Amino acid sequence: MIWDIPAHHRRAAERDILFDTQGGKCKSCGQEVSLRNVIVDHITPRTSGGSESITNLQLLCEDCAGRKRDSEA
Ligand SMILES: [Zn+2]
Repeated sequence: MIWDIPAHHRRAAERDILFDTQGGKCKSCGQEVSLRNVIVDHITPRTSGGSESITNLQLLCEDCAGRKRDSEA
């Protein structure tokens, strides 16, 4: 039952799926990333009404995640 899985485990599973989908590359710059340093980013920020669905998630390298955070601040 998926509902029995703690949220942080579900998020880890989503990260693995996204990692495969994106071919292990940052969605923004295409740089290769590893599961250790990849950032799960909300495409539409939660503060702007973005959902927690996997369709609103992407993986970014730390550089791009930092730039995106700056531009949204
Ligand atoms: Zn990047």
